[in-house]
Amino acid sequence: NTSVNSSKKKGKKLSLAMQIFIALVLAIVCGLACGKNAGFAETYIQPFGTIFLNLVKFIVGPIVLFSIMAGVVSMRDIKKVGAVGGLTLLYYFCTTAFATAIGLGVANIFSGAFPLISPKGVTYAAQKGQSVMDTIVNIFPSNFLAPITEANMLQVIVMALILGFAVILSGEKAQPAIKAIEIANDIFMKAMEMILKLSPIGVFCLLMPVVAKNGPTIIGSLAMVLLAAYVAYILHAIIVYSVAVGTLGGTSPIKFFKGMMPAILFAFSSASSVGTLPLNLECTKEIGVKEEVSSFVLPLGATINMDGTAIYQGVCVIFIASCFGIHMTPMQLLTIVVTATLASIGTAGVPGAGMIMLAMVLQSVGLPIAGIALVAGVDRIFDMGRTTVNITGDASCAVVVSNILKNKLESWNSTETQMTMHE
Ligand code: ASP
Repeated sequence: NTSVNSSKKKGKKLSLAMQIFIALVLAIVCGLACGKNAGFAETYIQPFGTIFLNLVKFIVGPIVLFSIMAGVVSMRDIKKVGAVGGLTLLYYFCTTAFATAIGLGVANIFSGAFPLISPKGVTYAAQKGQSVMDTIVNIFPSNFLAPITEANMLQVIVMALILGFAVILSGEKAQPAIKAIEIANDIFMKAMEMILKLSPIGVFCLLMPVVAKNGPTIIGSLAMVLLAAYVAYILHAIIVYSVAVGTLGGTSPIKFFKGMMPAILFAFSSASSVGTLPLNLECTKEIGVKEEVSSFVLPLGATINMDGTAIYQGVCVIFIASCFGIHMTPMQLLTIVVTATLASIGTAGVPGAGMIMLAMVLQSVGLPIAGIALVAGVDRIFDMGRTTVNITGDASCAVVVSNILKNKLESWNSTETQMTMHE
């Protein structure tokens, strides 16, 4: 409420979306103008972007922990958490699998126009822990503090769910804990709001060096691959999210995308889903999503739902395969849909994470991991688009779940109120 009030109070001051947009345009103009002096931008501008991103990363662990815990305890009923959680996971799985398929389809259409870069001599040092089983094992924390100190968001979610359920099951005597969780959630949200005020500066400092460094030249040879990814991103957003919010979500797609603009611009320039989380919570609130739904669905989505990343992986696999002169069989394409869906779940919501997980998808169909080096140079440009799709997907889910369960949540809430009154 405070932030809505404060933005109303400011009256004619530029909205955050507008400020971010101006920063974005300025970053592109200055980046292009910087041209040959990219070194300057990298040395003196980028560090301020890094400071901003560090602050966002610093606050995000407690934000996910407390917002999910607050979401769970506010539902006060495991049945309710189950309904919201089940529907959310179903939506996330289906849309991500669909996203991979769109990525593969568009890439196949574009593949004739892909450049054939010789993979000879390219090397890529893959990181450890990229098998499917490792990803599953890694979801569960083995230490109470490590999820936060290592910023492992999947583990933070598991911890938040376990503790949240424990609070609900502890009944009456846990009332003070509920209050404490709500207060902690409010405090961390406030801290996040303070950090987000810096986002126009952060956006400028993050994006300007990227534009200066990549300029139009590097994009050149990979232009077609980037174009394929962006066409697939846009198709997915228009087809899947518009239809989903328009039909299941009971909200006009125009209202949805307009309301999402600040979060979309922020995601595009920061390339971090987790960093966009607080703005996303704010935007979905304005669109009319119930807070008890968004505070559960969005942090979960920022961690496990990555439609853009799945699209990117589909496109890159086809491109890398064509450079190695390999043609994918239908069975291999199906394997890619499954592994890209799983890999995107294991992808952290921070810049560059999707490229690391690409190794898992390449391995699953026997392609050399070294192929990643072919697309690594422009990863940031892929990343800006995929992050935008990722967070829009999370918000569309919140709209859909909130609308489908609207009546159910209301009736549950009113039964609870009656029960409390009787007591
Ligand atoms: N940067 C993306 C995100 O935060 C993840 C990725 O690299 O694909 O959503």
